Amino acid sequence: MDYKISIERTKHSRLAEVDFNNIPFGKVFADHMFVADFDGKQWNNFSIRPLERLPFHPATMAWHYGQAIFEGMKASVSSEGIPLLFRPEDHARRFNTSAQRMCMPAFPTDLFVEALSRLVWLDRDWIPRNEESALYIRPVMMATDEFVGVRSSDTFKMMIMNLPSGPYYAKPVSLLVEEKYVRAVDGGVGEAKAAGNYGASLYPTKLAKEKGYDQVIWMDAHEFKYIQEVGTMNIFFVLKGRVVTPNLSGTILKGITRDSLITLMREKGYTVEERPVTMEEILAAYKKGDLLEAFGAGTAAVVAHVDRIGYKGEDLLLDQRNWELSRSLKEEINGIRSGRIQDRHGWIHPVIVEESVAV
Ligand SMILES: *Cc1c(COP(=O)(O)O)cnc(C)c1O
Repeated sequence: MDYKISIERTKHSRLAEVDFNNIPFGKVFADHMFVADFDGKQWNNFSIRPLERLPFHPATMAWHYGQAIFEGMKASVSSEGIPLLFRPEDHARRFNTSAQRMCMPAFPTDLFVEALSRLVWLDRDWIPRNEESALYIRPVMMATDEFVGVRSSDTFKMMIMNLPSGPYYAKPVSLLVEEKYVRAVDGGVGEAKAAGNYGASLYPTKLAKEKGYDQVIWMDAHEFKYIQEVGTMNIFFVLKGRVVTPNLSGTILKGITRDSLITLMREKGYTVEERPVTMEEILAAYKKGDLLEAFGAGTAAVVAHVDRIGYKGEDLLLDQRNWELSRSLKEEINGIRSGRIQDRHGWIHPVIVEESVAV
């Protein structure tokens, strides 16, 4: 379909204020944003315009009842200066899967990709060139009815903003196996990128940080036996002869990085098992000397090396010298994202926008 997106360029670019060698994650916003409104029947008012604060009524339903979802994706730039999106259609589809679970309207995937492309094109000078840096793209949809009472909102806002970002974790991460609090239960919303999931994770994560760990490993809610995932990452364990990762059971996010890495590993000839993984199995492998690597996979961190896992008062320590697979995966996926390594999977979506003369 052909969508009419109005475009208003900023007259005061903030680009010159940014130190691209030192960008704190999540705080620096590019010049423009995309906004669309759902009026109860359809999406309207597609606009790209200077990023600004928006006025909201105190009874805006998203604040009260958590009807809000988001996505996280990245754009890089090729050596010829062409912005490259990574698997944008997959992010658009997942946005709609999240929307459906949260009783929100679907956002047309072609409009999602077009809005992204135009927005990234306009903010293309904000895409960092440094290795491991990228433009982080944050689409979000929220309930906007001004109403007190629990029901689904009729109206929604969809917004997209761009944030230049450097490496997410400067160092390997330490993880604590969480044995009291849970993130997701069967039949719950663990598979949706729903705002409330993250609110619920903050307190247990704070407790883990007080104990000296960066993040928690979420376990299944019934027995605290099966590993789910970490913060905003899926998790992989490299054992001698095979790689294991929790299967998509409905309680974990269907990570696009996870999927991409599984594809790359299988191509390299690794056996990747997607199945229920218990912490006991990982501990036993560690004790035998068979646990070589553990790493998180997610758009923000891409591949996050894990150097320590706390479990029942013990620390499993992972030796950097064994991190062969996670290092080569990180190289490869960053290379594909930035166009240095050939994209054999159709993951890269180059952004070339014909700019109309009329304004
Ligand atoms: C976003 C997210 C991931 C990673 O998904 P990607 O598509 O790889 O970015 C994993 N777990 C959770 C809970 C997430 O929110």
